[in-house]
Amino acid sequence: MIPAAFDYVRASSLAQAIDLLRDDPDGAKLLAGGHTLLPALKLRLASPELLIDIGGIAELKGIEISESSVRIGALTTHAELFASEPLYGELPIFRQAACLIADPQVRNRGTIGGSLANADPAADWPAVMVALRAEIEIAGSDGLRRVPAQDFFVDIFSTLLEPDEILASIHIPRPKAGTRFSYRKIRHPASGFAVVGIAVGVLLQQGVVADVSIGVTGAANHAFAGQHAADFLTGKSLSRDNIDQAAKLLSETNECLSDRYASAEYRANLIRIETTRGLLALSS
Ligand SMILES: Cc1cc2nc3c(=O)[nH]c(=O)nc-3n(C[C@H](O)[C@H](O)[C@H](O)COP(=O)(O)OP(=O)(O)OC[C@H]3O[C@@H](n4cnc5c(N)ncnc54)[C@H](O)[C@@H]3O)c2cc1C
Repeated sequence: MIPAAFDYVRASSLAQAIDLLRDDPDGAKLLAGGHTLLPALKLRLASPELLIDIGGIAELKGIEISESSVRIGALTTHAELFASEPLYGELPIFRQAACLIADPQVRNRGTIGGSLANADPAADWPAVMVALRAEIEIAGSDGLRRVPAQDFFVDIFSTLLEPDEILASIHIPRPKAGTRFSYRKIRHPASGFAVVGIAVGVLLQQGVVADVSIGVTGAANHAFAGQHAADFLTGKSLSRDNIDQAAKLLSETNECLSDRYASAEYRANLIRIETTRGLLALSS
């Protein structure tokens, strides 16, 4: 439980952190809230030569709401996302999801940027980001680039981030007026992580689905969008029959993970059930 020796630098700006990473992309690791990285260091699952502490970088903090979008700095903690009243006013799904993450100690330190960059297949924010059609802003030596959340997660603990890049912020286009969201998760009884987590957003106009987005976590190697189910529902009513068919379609789209706690078939069934529940909650 004692980490290997490492050097430590507390970066004071994004530019400094990028320079440090560029100098040693394989030997350096970023430290945000530390709630994944520190246990990994103690277990020697990671042994970086240099820890770059980004926790004091002002550019990576804050929640800003403009007319067209919401910007969330990578260092924003789960607790801050839970507590923000302006954010709750715009997108209550943040509060709904944040309070399902771990416990107060983890929520007070863990950051949304750390969670997304870490890409744990059972983490909660990835599904929410996919359903919100968020864009991930990435900073590197060549400047900034943005990628849609649904393309950002590529495999277990793997994203589009290059070794010398930093996840800087998340940008969420403000949904059309009347769009409502839901996040539901079945927690693993030991870890609290999602065995399956489903985020859905629905805009109903005159009883018909004008827009729908679905993000799934926990079920597969990485979070994914339920595009087939969304395409099926668009233009239809949210009747029980249509919801059941969409949920079934979604449960069939991806190969699910299988482990000692939950088989692939069990996870697929949870996708079906939680999607049904999420859509039913938004149907009236
Ligand atoms: C007991 C426990 C229970 C948990 N339960 C849940 C749960 O139920 N649901 C859930 O979703 N999560 C859960 N988590 C994870 C937690 O919520 C944190 O989000 C997670 O630990 C990562 O965030 P962090 O800020 O602590 O990142 P760190 O641990 O500091 O970093 C994690 C990784 O991401 C990299 N990194 C960090 N920030 C950036 C960045 N801005 N750009 C690029 N790379 C970066 C680091 O180099 C490191 O590799 C749990 C954690 C613990 C310890």
